[in-house]
Amino acid sequence: MNATTITVPQADPGAGYRAQKDEIDAAVARALASGWYILGKEGEAFEKEYAAWQGAARAIGCANGTDALTLAMRGLGIGPGSTVVTVSHTAVATVAAIEMVGATPLLLDIDPDTYTMDPDELAAVLEDPPPGLPPIRAVIPVHLYGQACDLAPMLAAAQRHGATVIEDCSQAHGATLGGAKVGNLGRIACYSLYPTKNLGALGDGGVLTTDDGALADAIGAIRQYGWKERYISADVGVNSRLDELQAAILRVKLTRLDANNARRAQIAAAYDAALAGGPFAPPVRRAGAGHVFHQYVLRVPDRAAVMARLRAEGVATAVHYPVPVHLQPAYRGRTPLGPAGCAETARAAGEVMSLPMFPELTDAQVERVCAALRAL
Ligand SMILES: *Cc1c(COP(=O)(O)O)cnc(C)c1O
Repeated sequence: MNATTITVPQADPGAGYRAQKDEIDAAVARALASGWYILGKEGEAFEKEYAAWQGAARAIGCANGTDALTLAMRGLGIGPGSTVVTVSHTAVATVAAIEMVGATPLLLDIDPDTYTMDPDELAAVLEDPPPGLPPIRAVIPVHLYGQACDLAPMLAAAQRHGATVIEDCSQAHGATLGGAKVGNLGRIACYSLYPTKNLGALGDGGVLTTDDGALADAIGAIRQYGWKERYISADVGVNSRLDELQAAILRVKLTRLDANNARRAQIAAAYDAALAGGPFAPPVRRAGAGHVFHQYVLRVPDRAAVMARLRAEGVATAVHYPVPVHLQPAYRGRTPLGPAGCAETARAAGEVMSLPMFPELTDAQVERVCAALRAL
């Protein structure tokens, strides 16, 4: 076959639309006909339905996942004069959000097997913070690729030192730890609803969940100019609203989120079997964690060559993420790191490779990827 013809894309947000086209078209028509386009009935219904699905008391919609993180921090009073700890092996949004509120990011290294924050390094920086930084007020663990962080020791360390845990669940809608959904374990959780996420809008969107009603009310006001009553800003706010069209679409897509996560797990199991006995180990699963496979990531030292071989078989791959945040031009040389110096992060960035992963992959496409993997 033609080496440049991709028969299995790495991601395909259009497939998610086509899979529920009639329902989504009807929801869009309903939202358009309503004559109300921002913060109305669809948004309220989505917030109720998402909170119920998550098992949280409250959900607050917003414009995107980056804003969800900034709104969480604003709601908690975290800004200039605060340090917020997260990882460098994440979407740049996690770090950008910390600077957007005027706080100082402190970036820690990852556990090389699961690519999530090293809890020992977190305990170390909380115990003995790097000199010259403002006090550590919050920790943002990122449940990367669909798998929960090793959260229990992190929660304990944060609590000992009075730091608030804000979960970044943008890649982990429905992931579990010890049987509990991630997002219900810290003080508040933030989710991107970008089209390729496990729950994706057909445009930008974000949502937060929390059991703290007062915090939810505060964030609900901050996302719209600090209004508690119309046109009167009780506090300084921003504009970060989820629109009615996206909310209507998300309500449809939420009905299929659990089934889609199950399909992702099925695809992951097929890849596991195809990799057995070969040179590349399947992703490490954390004991007690339910992985929702936002990405299926292999560690491949000779990555460029392997990506080219898969591409020659029509299989597209991607790299999440090729350059750690602290080494990107905007951040390099000025972003404080933990004592580990993000050494594992730098190594992972050179080796990680994501296989095709989205629920609408057909069995034939999955088999095509498996055949290509068996030939490696
Ligand atoms: C996608 C993502 C974000 C940002 O979400 P946007 O909706 O693009 O603003 C934040 N954190 C993580 C881990 C993400 O994957």
